[in-house]
Amino acid sequence: MPRHSLIAATAGLTVLASALTGCGFTGGQPADLQIYSARHYDLEGAFGQFTEETGISVEFISGGDAELLERLKAEGEDTPADVFMTVDAGNLWNAARQNELAAIDSAVLDQAVPEDLRDPQGRWYGLAMRARTVTYNPAKVDPAEFDAKDTYGGLTDPKWKGRLCMRDATSSYTQSLVASLIDLHGREKALKIAKGWVANDVQIMSNDVLLLEAIDAGTCDVGINNHYYLARTLAKNPDLKVDLFWASQGGSGTHVNISGAALVEGSDNPEAALRLIEWLATKGQNAFVDANHEFPVNPTVKPEPVISDFGEFKRMPLNAQAYGDLNAEAVDLLAEAGYK
Ligand code: FE
Repeated sequence: MPRHSLIAATAGLTVLASALTGCGFTGGQPADLQIYSARHYDLEGAFGQFTEETGISVEFISGGDAELLERLKAEGEDTPADVFMTVDAGNLWNAARQNELAAIDSAVLDQAVPEDLRDPQGRWYGLAMRARTVTYNPAKVDPAEFDAKDTYGGLTDPKWKGRLCMRDATSSYTQSLVASLIDLHGREKALKIAKGWVANDVQIMSNDVLLLEAIDAGTCDVGINNHYYLARTLAKNPDLKVDLFWASQGGSGTHVNISGAALVEGSDNPEAALRLIEWLATKGQNAFVDANHEFPVNPTVKPEPVISDFGEFKRMPLNAQAYGDLNAEAVDLLAEAGYK
């Protein structure tokens, strides 16, 4: 079906759907697009806006990354899914490697998404970016104490002994950070860093919010957090005694990761799926990223005010292949270091 008739055909259907549900769901009618999403941050707002603007209705199924990928594989060509969305570049890399994603050739996306935040073969595109950086209690720490060149590795200095809180080894956030350190420094130095954190009696926390609460309460002086947890917590409590330090600005830059989207191999509606992904990377960037205080990947789009206040930073180039391929090695390294 040529593009214009596809859109004309879907427009009528979705007006009804939007009227029924108010947010792009189809109330019994099959939606134009089915999204499988392992991204658990507020999707309704952005998709509702997309439906309003384009008349393309969207329905999504949420689940874990591994679960949704298994489902895509099991359904094969019969899959109802058109778009796959997930968090973590390593997961996107894996999905592409398992031949579940179709290559997209789009000048719009190539222009909107920086090169290291998308697959060189066009099988996935980063849409939202998060930074994993150092957070600290300003009453306890002078930021001049941080190693500006290698801030993550600098936390192995004995002066931080008994002052550190970090996430558990089972967290994909920890694993991808460590995979990036292996990619950057090699296994030996990355292992030395993990061992150094352990030698400093790092307290392991089971989620990023608890970690921020511990810093605020003075239980620990320094942590490593995804920036949006701080933004979210600050939005509720501006008096929180936690500041952010952009890690390794004098060196390789701050570790980042992405949420991204891909066209599913076997999609029945690739034109509308492409339109959604292009919209999310351009006009829909703020609708997609702001509610979770994430950074737009598109350099022409402004981040929302709370994270704009964190200031600009240099990011470590993202190597999705490394995050994917080195995940097992990162898990192994953390175990060897005695990092729980
Ligand atoms: Fe998160």
